[in-house]
Amino acid sequence: MSPRAGGDRLASYRSKRDFDATREPRGSSGTPEGGAGRRFVVQRHRASRLHYDLRLEMGGVLASWAVPKGPTLDPDARRLAVHVEDHPLEYFDFEGVIDPGLYGAGDVIVWDWGTWRPHPPDTDPVDAVDNGELHFDLDGVKLQGRFVLHRRGEGDQWILVHKHDGAAVAGWDAEEHPTSVRSGRTNDEVAANPQESWLPPTEAELGALDELGNGGTWRVGGDAVRLSNLDKVLFPGRGDDEPITKRAFVRYLTTVGPHLLPYLSGRPVNRHRFPDGVAEAGFWAKAVPASAPAWLTRWHDPDAKAGRTSDYIVADRIATLAYLANEAAVELHPWTARIEDVTRPTWALCDIDPGESSSFDDVLVLARLHRVALERLGLEARPKVTGKRGVQIWIPIAPRYDFDETRAWVQALSRAVGAVVPELVSWAWRVDERGGLARLDYTQNSSSHTLVAPFSARPAPGAPVSVPLEWDELDDPGLRPDTWTIRTVADRLARIGDPLRPLIGLAQELPPIAPARTRVTTAAATVAR
Ligand code: MN
Repeated sequence: MSPRAGGDRLASYRSKRDFDATREPRGSSGTPEGGAGRRFVVQRHRASRLHYDLRLEMGGVLASWAVPKGPTLDPDARRLAVHVEDHPLEYFDFEGVIDPGLYGAGDVIVWDWGTWRPHPPDTDPVDAVDNGELHFDLDGVKLQGRFVLHRRGEGDQWILVHKHDGAAVAGWDAEEHPTSVRSGRTNDEVAANPQESWLPPTEAELGALDELGNGGTWRVGGDAVRLSNLDKVLFPGRGDDEPITKRAFVRYLTTVGPHLLPYLSGRPVNRHRFPDGVAEAGFWAKAVPASAPAWLTRWHDPDAKAGRTSDYIVADRIATLAYLANEAAVELHPWTARIEDVTRPTWALCDIDPGESSSFDDVLVLARLHRVALERLGLEARPKVTGKRGVQIWIPIAPRYDFDETRAWVQALSRAVGAVVPELVSWAWRVDERGGLARLDYTQNSSSHTLVAPFSARPAPGAPVSVPLEWDELDDPGLRPDTWTIRTVADRLARIGDPLRPLIGLAQELPPIAPARTRVTTAAATVAR
């Protein structure tokens, strides 16, 4: 149970589960230490008995306690917490249904998540757990402040309490805060729509994909997808790496699905297809093919003009990603507006598009200036490397502004940023008039323009991937815009997760951009360099 106990730290976790049947993650053995970031998650698990699973990242696993009444901010409440088996880091964002008859059968939501640190800071948390007492601070969406876990006697029973501090709230009850911080859904909603729970293929499903030969019908997540030419090379290798087949691309899109689908679900998706591999020219596709399976979710545009695309694919489940991979839809471009109202985007996007003479350092200067400006405006946002040469800034917004308003706002932001470093930026429309300088392309905020989704691949050797970042990662001297590929992005997700994900659905208003409020000072510009 202790993360430092000899042998495989996840042996107990694995011995209780059948990974051919459950959609819970197997977890990779020997997962490296998770760097500086210590994450925590609390899952509300409606099993034979309701409980909340408190999991703290330490020693390369999630040390776990089952808390029947749930954690509380009430400093006068003592909660029973049963120390249970360590879980793999991949369990961090697990949300979905564990089928009847399996261990832990029931529904699970990500009730809270965030970061934690031991107190005092130099505490070795693994030792502290071994010794039966851990003091720690939580910085989550719901849970904040100092907690103490202490073991009662020699068994697995511990007590969880909240200290009397600034975050304490008398009478606070977890059951009064019932929704998922991951999806906004309740346990009931997750149980009612397990198809939308975006769980990756099981080991058995992946095994069946490997055994499919060059094509055939693959069953994944309850749907059947016809796959063809699975051994065909879609991407040349980068350097000396092996080329990447369509089978590997199907595996990538379906396994990264739980991280990709939150950006695609509920939106039409435009596809950049490369059926002959990315070494050949691709083409854009918007319409649902006539041969598409009946279960595929479609959106019909009631305002489509005659002869224009009227029916679009909405990717809302793992099998759809298998379908898209099979049609070699290498780049997935979701609309920034949702189908409930396709005239009002939920993302404002800043596209830092490097010119021929722009260095990546120039791009980073521009990205950091966006950070300064957005922080001054009090807006949450994250940068994202494109997988090619550029960086984009994704800003979640309330669906109350039309495209013209959103574009005008981003244009004002871009002008404020560009004014600090006029030597790096061109406002010319035509590429050949930009003198090789970067463009801050606010025109992407329109109903007819889209940007590549987080975790989508790009059509280049090695299959690079567009990846959201923490702002501080812009200062990593090793950062490159095409660092991650479909072979390496899973490692990153297991280590640090997706920094953009907690911002999905954040209904931010666009504050007025007045020069006095937004001016990015010379000092800030110096910092940015
Ligand atoms: Mn549980």
